Amino acid sequence: MDAIERLGRSGLRGRGGAWFPAARKWQAVKAEGGEAVVVANGAEGEPGSIKDRFTMLRRPDAVLAGLRAAAEALGAREAHVYLKGSFAAPAAALEAALATVPAGGPEIRVHRGEDSYVAGEETALLESIEGRRAWPRPKPPRPFAVGLHGRPTLVQNVETLSRVPEALADPEAFRAGETTLCSIWGDVALPGVHEVRLGTPLRDVIASCAGGAPDGIGLLFPAGPSAPPLSAVQADLPLDPDALRAAGSALGTASLLVVGASRCPLQLAVSLAGFFEREACGQCPPCTVGTARLAGILRDLEAGSARGRDLHYLREAAGFMQQHGYCAHARTGATAALGLLARFPEAVEAHVGAGGCPHGGTPCDPFAPGSPQQAAIEAALGAA
Ligand code: SF4
Repeated sequence: MDAIERLGRSGLRGRGGAWFPAARKWQAVKAEGGEAVVVANGAEGEPGSIKDRFTMLRRPDAVLAGLRAAAEALGAREAHVYLKGSFAAPAAALEAALATVPAGGPEIRVHRGEDSYVAGEETALLESIEGRRAWPRPKPPRPFAVGLHGRPTLVQNVETLSRVPEALADPEAFRAGETTLCSIWGDVALPGVHEVRLGTPLRDVIASCAGGAPDGIGLLFPAGPSAPPLSAVQADLPLDPDALRAAGSALGTASLLVVGASRCPLQLAVSLAGFFEREACGQCPPCTVGTARLAGILRDLEAGSARGRDLHYLREAAGFMQQHGYCAHARTGATAALGLLARFPEAVEAHVGAGGCPHGGTPCDPFAPGSPQQAAIEAALGAA
């Protein structure tokens, strides 16, 4: 049995957010023929997610072993690791591990690129490695067919690659006991990153790994800003990509944001929309204009100055965003914001009826750069 077949038996799926079967991705690159390239994506940018940096700091050898295994399976002589420019410590850990790798195998280069959120998109990082601005490419073609310098390219998340050696060594055991790293942050006692068995109820993960939610659970964002949140009653759902997708959300990079019961859902919607507005790279007008429009209407709604027709404009802008853009940014932002509003129609009505936020209390903007919630989990990374 060859490596790709063994990987398929293990059931390993990508931890970059999509949970796409790794073996199918490898096979697609191999089927293209020609000289393949392998790229490890370590440009983690999801707010609150620290699991990729944790992996590179704690298990750089496993990341490189997975990268080498992929290169060997695909016949690649060249491999790259792409990180954000500010990730000095993970880059140093990888360079130190690289110095101990035996001779032979692919030539591996570590790149510290751009710090933007969108630089983690798989075609944007290829642009950056090629020396251009980290902007997503229009698709098709996908990187498996036309990637780095036009060659068939496997782009795989660093956590995924770190799990490859274990998956190849014993595929059946890997499948039977699969775990994933989960960054747990927000209104919890102990924010941090934890290894969690797939299928564990979210409520148990929050209690056993993060010391629980002192203010009670109001909302759960299992994929950070990249999918609609779950309500408190859905906290018994398992931490599992398929189950969460079926519930109208997603697991994504398992950046699990817990929002306390006293927080205002509309403030969260404003925070979410602000994130997508700030991080739009500026390449596609429907995304640039749409994310700004969506954020503006939500700010008016939260402040109580929106009118009934603004809800119509909001849905119109979101509908437009869901169909345009070179990458998933606009689509994801619109889906997440609409999903949040749909889960809490009473909150929308309460704001319109009250002419402002009826919640009062401390403003909550977890998706803002350097928010207290993000600072707390980043501190946990420093202590790891
Ligand atoms: S959809 Fe938005 S983030 Fe993506 S390439 Fe276009 S402008 Fe940039």
